[in-house]
Amino acid sequence: MSGQLPVQKRIVLVVGAGIMGTGIAQVAAQTGHSVWLFDTREGAAQGALEKLRNSLASLVTKGKMTDLDAQALLANIVPVARLQDAASSSLVIEAIVEQAQAKRALWQQLEDIVGADCVFASNTSSISITAMAQGLRHPERLVGMHFFNPVPLMKLVEVVSGLHTAPHIAADIFTLAQTWGKVAVHARSTPGFIVNRIARPYYAETLALLQEQCTSPVVVDACLKAIGFRMGPCELMDLIGHDTNFAVTESVYQANFFDKRYMPSLLQRELVDGGLLGRKSGRGIYDYAGSAIKPQLVATPNANFPVAKGVQLHGSDPRIDAWASRLTTAGISFIHQRNSDWIGLSTPTLQLRQTDGRTASSLGANVAVFDMAFTTEGSHALAWAPSARASSACAAEAQAWLSALAYQPQQVADQCALIVARTVAMLINEAADAVQQGVCTVEGANQAMKLGVNYPAGPFDWLAAWSAQGVIQVLEALDAQYRGERYRVSPWLRQQAYAAMDEV
Ligand code: NAD
Repeated sequence: MSGQLPVQKRIVLVVGAGIMGTGIAQVAAQTGHSVWLFDTREGAAQGALEKLRNSLASLVTKGKMTDLDAQALLANIVPVARLQDAASSSLVIEAIVEQAQAKRALWQQLEDIVGADCVFASNTSSISITAMAQGLRHPERLVGMHFFNPVPLMKLVEVVSGLHTAPHIAADIFTLAQTWGKVAVHARSTPGFIVNRIARPYYAETLALLQEQCTSPVVVDACLKAIGFRMGPCELMDLIGHDTNFAVTESVYQANFFDKRYMPSLLQRELVDGGLLGRKSGRGIYDYAGSAIKPQLVATPNANFPVAKGVQLHGSDPRIDAWASRLTTAGISFIHQRNSDWIGLSTPTLQLRQTDGRTASSLGANVAVFDMAFTTEGSHALAWAPSARASSACAAEAQAWLSALAYQPQQVADQCALIVARTVAMLINEAADAVQQGVCTVEGANQAMKLGVNYPAGPFDWLAAWSAQGVIQVLEALDAQYRGERYRVSPWLRQQAYAAMDEV
């Protein structure tokens, strides 16, 4: 098998000289492989090489690469006019148009050209590797090798095995990706693989919140950026393009036999139908016209602590410990009820509770809920909501406490689990289902989300900072509100909750 060849000796044929194919050719050539580049569009491979020459020249100018290395890299890539010219390839990586029929036809054509030991790797983002291999004489040699854009910068490669894929082929491509400086994770060929599956709720929950008019895009973005996301979901969807984002959601939804969990959003459909695709069309959720004013978060100066007697802190939680220090510094006396069954602060006229999924209105009259934060730091946007029965004095007191505790409180509609808790619970749940179904491991999911889409933490890192029971409570509250399949709890998560129970 080609797997036995020393890595650099392998000749790599990259088919498709678009944005991904060019990046893949670059990283392969950088590692020392001889690379052939083929594209059916006349002049495309030559053009890609020219573009690469220019971008490497600019790296050389900036001192990020030596001229010698750039020349060596370029010398390793040779455009070919016909697939037959690359018959001695030991690995073919396909990055052509995302159409199952075109990809299958390419592999069938290649089977008559290259040797029986040549490995076939597809960079597809959504097509089943099992289905793609069907009809090949050697279906066991086909594996998914899913890079992320831009290929030279993004560390992740999902190595996707279909039912036919030979384990040694997947293992070989896994090792090869590592030698290319990537972090490889194994995935089973299921809709969306790892990243495009687990990421769905980041967009879906936001679109649901906006559709229900719970809050504004700028508040959702600020609250999720507060837990470390580089871009809020609205900014990110505008950047990806709603057409692309909608198409991925729709394909995952269809591929899952219309499971409501993945149902696309009417709101996004309307954006797509109206040509409001995001940055590339000048308007999406936000307006990018030259004259448009980007909406800003309403920032309030941090208030003084309300003058209050009978203050109690509730729950054994790092965030509440941080609050305790702040109250102590401010000279406010309080009792800390560590064994309380909720997290937050109370006064004789207010219960200010971290969301457990339930609405403030369902918890009482003098209640306000605030969002999860996964940090003990203040001074960031934090969603909160008062009970529908709270007096205006009670709501004002809640706002004042959050502000005095150094947050930028953002009042949103009183709906289950607010913004961060709802989104993160759903990301964890999706990742849990992926693990339950053998799509990836816990570590694979964490790495994939951090390296494939720059998440600030992996879904199971958040779970470790929360608890399976806490996530389940949030999902059950959402399920009780919405009824349907969307918020059903992953069996894997339930097992974790049982495992964490004290022995009786
Ligand atoms: P692209 O449109 O930039 O490039 C595709 C290239 O393939 C074009 O140059 C086209 O002429 C060529 N082509 C089409 N059919 C061909 C054929 N039968 N034989 C040879 N060449 C052919 O597309 P892209 O963004 O580079 O995506 C390529 C693949 O990578 C797709 O499967 C896509 O889903 C996947 N992918 C894309 C991204 C991304 O962010 N763009 C990320 C991960 C994976």
